[in-house]
Order: sequence, then C-alpha cells, then structure tokens
Amino acid sequence: MKKAYKTEVLLTATQQQKANQTIGVCRYVYNLYLETAQNHYKETKKHLSGFDFSKWLNNVHTQQNDKWIKDVSSKAVKQSIMNGDRAFKNFFKGVSKFPRFKKKKNEDVKAYFPKNNATDLTVERHRIKIPTFGWVRLKEFRYIPSNAKVIHCTLSKKAGRYFISVLCEVTKRQTTYEYETEGIGVDLGLKEFAVCSNQLIFENVNKQERIIKLEKRLKRQQRKLSRSVEQNKNRKRGEFCARNRQKQLLVVQKLHARLANMRKEYIRFVVGVLVKTKPAYIAIEDLNVTGMMKNRHLSRAIASQNFKQFRDFLTVKCLEIGIEIRLVDRWFPSSKCCSSCGEKNVGLSLADRIFTCEHCGLEMDRDFNASLNLQYTKKYTVLTE
Ligand SMILES: [Zn+2]
Repeated sequence: MKKAYKTEVLLTATQQQKANQTIGVCRYVYNLYLETAQNHYKETKKHLSGFDFSKWLNNVHTQQNDKWIKDVSSKAVKQSIMNGDRAFKNFFKGVSKFPRFKKKKNEDVKAYFPKNNATDLTVERHRIKIPTFGWVRLKEFRYIPSNAKVIHCTLSKKAGRYFISVLCEVTKRQTTYEYETEGIGVDLGLKEFAVCSNQLIFENVNKQERIIKLEKRLKRQQRKLSRSVEQNKNRKRGEFCARNRQKQLLVVQKLHARLANMRKEYIRFVVGVLVKTKPAYIAIEDLNVTGMMKNRHLSRAIASQNFKQFRDFLTVKCLEIGIEIRLVDRWFPSSKCCSSCGEKNVGLSLADRIFTCEHCGLEMDRDFNASLNLQYTKKYTVLTE
C-alpha cells in the first residue's frame, strides 16, 4: 500500500534559495512546454509529446538559451514536462479542461525528486536527504517512518513555508476490525456541518468566532493588497512599491493558508470522532457539490465547508481501518422521506427545519430525519479504494 506523508521542512538560507530556484525553473519549463506544444499543434496538427519536448530542450534549446535550466535537478525538470504532457492527455480524453499556465502567486508547482540510488531520500528521525539539496531538517520528528521504503518526494512552498511530501510503500496493518455500535448515517448540511443518526451533531466550523474573525481580517488585508496594485500602476512599478506588494501578498497568503488549515483540522476531528465510535458502517450522501455550487447564493458557503475533502478523508480512514463506507445514491430523497413509515413528504421546502409526516404524525428535526434515512437505506454502493 502506498502512503504519502506531508510535513514542513526547515531550510537553510542556501537551501531556500535552491528550492525557490528549482520551483521557479519547473514552472518556467512547464509553461514553456505548454506554449511550444500549442504552437506545434497549430502548425502540424499533432501533439508534441513531453518526451520529444524534453529531448529538444536538452539537446537544442539549452545549448543556446536559458542555460540556467541546467542548474537545477534534471529529474524535477523532466517531471514538470511530464505533468504538462498528462494535462494535455487529460484534456484530449475530455477528463479536464485545457491546461493553463502556472502562475507564481498560485504556488501550485512542486519540485519532484525520485529515488535514484540507495542513499537518496534516506529518512532519519529529524532529517531527510534530498538529491541536490543534501540533508534537510524536518520540523516534525519521527512523523515519516525511517524504515519505510520511499518511492519519491515533492517539495513545495506555501505562504512562505516549505513542505515535503514523501510517498512510501508501507505494509498494510493486518488487524481485523470489530464493530461495537450499529451503522451511522451522516447528513451533511449548511446549518450544521453534519448531523448523525447516533445523535452526534457537528457544528458548522465557519460559524465559529475564530473563523469569522480571521475571515474579516483576510478581507481587510485583501483590500489593502488590491489598493497596492493600484499604487503600482500609478507609480509605474517602482521598485519600492513592488516589494511592499510582495510583503502584503505574503500576509494574504498566510491568512488563506491558516483558514484552510483550520478547516482541514476540523474535518480531521469529525472523521476521528466518527471512527472512534466503532460503527458497523458509515453511510454518507453522494453530494453533487459541483451542481450545488451553481447556486451563487450558496456557493461560497458550500465551498468553505469542504464536503469533498471530508468525503476523501473519511473514505481513506475507513478503508484503512476496515469500516464499511456506504455512498448513498445522489437522487435518494433522504430529507423528504419519513424515517418511521417511509412516506414521502413532497411539500417539504428547504426552509422547513422540522420534518412532519402527514401519514404517521412523526415530528422530528429535518437533518436528523435525513440521517436516519441514510442509515437504513438499501440504495447504496460500498466504496472500495
Ligand atoms: Zn411517517
């Protein structure tokens, strides 16, 4: 089984410079590949493969231009080309949109390092050996198991901090799972994050004071940032202003990262609590998040709830432990059915917080009723891997 460990690393000044350089070159080469492949397609109506581009880059292009490409790890450069190649292939298959150029401010480029020889990517308690970098200090000791078989790693930068993601081959735990409580249905929503059929209720993290405060601060700093852009235009990109803009950009990036971390942490907490009750199974709704996001009044609220991330974390955790994870059909009317007699209440609108059944007279919280329906439904698929 493959498992990825992502953790922060502490880089020395020279290593930081090297990391920025490697990531920068990878971004440049990725964009160069996109541009060259597009032009190539316009002229010949054929796709320029990453393999051919790499050959041209090494044997022709870097002989005269952009010699500095050779200054960084060639494997990292090769991988960024292959990433571009895959982006094109996904587009041809219709899986994803047309590949876009990478921008520095998006921080979405990673430097890739494979394990080439025995001493590469050796993990010790407090440090890891990265090709062309040497020993790099880890911030969290013993997180990456030092006896694990490392396959490759990627180095990334986010809001002024550096992270390493190490992919390892680990042996699966061979323990049999024994449940202690019955299965639970989990109804995700906007008012509460999750209402479970075993009476557990998880509040919406975005309604917490600490998140609201941070959101406010972010808004203020973003305003400041956008004003600094205007300043730059007026002063014709003065050196002093550009540097202040970089500083302000970092402030905004840090706030974004902190908010994202807090939300992620909360989701991990919810998953942990659910798993620790040792249920027979967990049933969740297959939410159509993309469809829901089209409602522009709710899209912001839905995006900040990270339902997709919750489902991914929960699935990974459940599969690891051995809990059955049931995905209930998207069109299953979980909130409109009565959990006691099964009668459908068609007239129920989103504003009704209390579910009432005309058939048997049941009165119950709307979300709790939905979670019970999810728990007992037979219309589900069991998720595997
Ligand atoms: Zn009823």
